[in-house]
Formats: sequence, structure tokens, C-alpha cells
Amino acid sequence: MLEKPMLNFLDFTYAEALQKLSELGMAKFSAKQIFDWVYRKGNYSPGEWSNLSSKNRELFQKNFTLSLPQVLWHGLSKDGTRKFLLKLDDTQTIESVVIAAKNRLTLCISSQVGCAIGCTFCHTGTQGLKRHLNTSEVTGQYLTVSKWLRENVGEDCRLTNIVYMGQGEPLHNYENVRKATEIFLEPQGLGLGQRRITLSTSGLVPQIKKLTDFPPVNIAISLHSAKNDVRSELMPINKTYDLERLFEAIKTIPLKAHRRITYEYLLIKDLNDTPEDVEALSELLTQKESKINLIPFNEYPGSEYKRPTDEKIYWFMEQMSDKGFTCTVRHSKGDDILAACGQLKTQYEKLNLWNSSTSSI
Ligand code: SAH
Ligand code: SF4
Repeated sequence: MLEKPMLNFLDFTYAEALQKLSELGMAKFSAKQIFDWVYRKGNYSPGEWSNLSSKNRELFQKNFTLSLPQVLWHGLSKDGTRKFLLKLDDTQTIESVVIAAKNRLTLCISSQVGCAIGCTFCHTGTQGLKRHLNTSEVTGQYLTVSKWLRENVGEDCRLTNIVYMGQGEPLHNYENVRKATEIFLEPQGLGLGQRRITLSTSGLVPQIKKLTDFPPVNIAISLHSAKNDVRSELMPINKTYDLERLFEAIKTIPLKAHRRITYEYLLIKDLNDTPEDVEALSELLTQKESKINLIPFNEYPGSEYKRPTDEKIYWFMEQMSDKGFTCTVRHSKGDDILAACGQLKTQYEKLNLWNSSTSSI
């Protein structure tokens, strides 16, 4: 008889884990202890879980694996950004980036291998969608990178924030991203605060309308233009869900008191950086409920778009600030290690480093 495939315990929320473990006859108390070892202590060796009975340890090992993404490559940029190329069980690779700023250490995580949305400015978009990440591959990026930082940088090097701004469209992989977010927030899980997590979306209208069921994290919308024709050129999704439909859906997002939606606006030379674009953007957004984050386009080989000059970028920011908006510029991090979305993975494949061993620099 074929043996049942083992389940990855890291795919379960606390509620699901309680259910699975109780089916095996384990008490709620043991489930709490297991979550504590895995998510609080970062210990993935059931043999070492000293406060569990040997019977429960064996039962766990017979039924579950604790499979995490593996660090295939790591690079440290001059500005402190760290980039990780991670290998999944089926040998697909994804990127996670750690960005240090002020008193924060933010992990930028991927939600898919590739992306189906196909934005014309995005390196990941050119690769198409390979597959969704499962729950444990989303949370696994946080667990693997946290472990690596603890072991290689120091015990007190702790991630404080998470942004879903790596490869993939998180709302296209709604269910796994929702479950992973639950684990990030859950007091029994990683216990991060709601304000420490930001989900960025290109504007999948049906899923935005479902955010009423999503844990209440910060929401960022990739806008990139306030004009339908320009936005459709940059983001094919705008041909299906144009600005009118997008903003109708945004109105349904439950916002807690004092929270605002962030609008990401990629600045591309002569395409969306003109006085007309400033007017269109300020007419579209209301000051009270929005924050604008300007992202200077990060050029890469083969891309037809250009980055505006620094003067132009700051001119755009000042125009929006003068109109009463909270507007910031996101400085590109880790340029010297190919930190923009999807570039490292491609470079790695080109160099044919598949069979070389893990290198950490
Ligand atoms: N798919 C989601 C999640 C993040 S996508 C979304 O589109 O919102 C990755 C992020 O990288 C987005 O904020 C996007 O604007 C940014 N990005 C992609 N290509 C870029 C480039 N060439 N230069 C600068 N930012 C880029
Ligand atoms: Fe996908 Fe976001 Fe890249 Fe667009 S910008 S292709 S939605 S990852």
C-alpha cells in the first residue's frame, strides 16, 4: 500500500493545527507547545522539543515535515540591503530582500514564482506565472531569513516589518497569502502587529472587494498613473479593471481609524512625470485618505523605460506636497546587488549557477 504523503506543518494556521493534532489525539496544550517551538523559538527539530512527551514527538514526526526554503545565495549591498535567493522543494527559486531603515528591518517577500499580471516595466512580469507559493513558502521566507540573520549576523538581528512587494501578485494567490498573514499576526504564531505588515496589489478588483475577510493589514495600491491610457500601457490589468472600477473597489476596503491607503507611483521619464500627470493624480486622490510613495524607475538591461532625473523626481514630490498630499520618495535599495524585483533570479539563471553550492558574501 502507498504511504500517505507527509504534510508540511508550516502550511497550517493555529486553528488548522489544533484540528489536525486533535485528530491524532494530542491535547490543545501540546499544540500550543509545538507552535511555541516552531514560531517563537525557531526550533525545527522535533527531537529537541523537551517539554513534549516522547510519544507526542514521535507522533508529530510520523505525520508532519517542517520544510523551509533553503538559502541558495545571499548578497549584502553597500547600503545594508541584503538579498536572498531561496530554493523551494521543487527547485524553483524566489527572492526575498531585507531592507534596513531607521529602526526598522523590513522583509520584502514574494507571493508567487513569476507573475501573471505582466506589467511592462517589471522584470518579474516578463517571466510569466510559474506557480503560486503555498502558505509555508510565504511564511517560510520570514522563518528562513530570520534564522539566517540570527546565525550569521547576531541574536538581536530581528525582522520588524513585512511588505508583500517581492515577486508576484499577492491577491492572485489570495488564500495562501491570507493564511500566511494570519500566521504572521497570530499571537500563537509570529505575533507581529497589524501595522507592521503591508500588502501591495496591482489592482485585482474582485479580490480587493474580498479584503473585508482579510486580516486588517496596511494596503498599498500600485497606481503608477492616474490616466487610463497610460496605466493600461504599463499594467495590462487596467484594461480589465480600469481606474473607475479600481476606485469603486478601493472604497470597500475596511480602514481602521487613522489608517490610510498608500498609492505607489512608479516615476518613468516622460511617461507619467509631467505637469498634466500631477494634475490628474491630485484630482484622483483625496488628501485625507491617501499617502503617495514615488518609486523612481529602476532601469535594467532590455527595458525601454528610463528613470527621470533627480530634479524631476523631487519636483514631482514637491508638487504633490504643495497640493496637501503626504508624499515620499522610495530610494532604490541595493542597486549594486540587483535588488529590483526579479533581476537577481534571472541573472543567477544566466550565469548557470544552479549546481554550485550556497555562497554567502
Ligand atoms: N504585484 C504587486 C506586489 C509588488 S510588485 C504589485 O504590483 O503591487 C513589486 C514592486 O516592485 C511594485 O511596487 C513595483 O512597482 C516595483 N517595481 C517593479 N519593477 C520595478 C522597476 N523596474 N523599478 C522600480 N520598481 C519596480
Ligand atoms: Fe506582477 Fe507586481 Fe511585477 Fe506587475 S509589478 S508584473 S503585478 S509583480
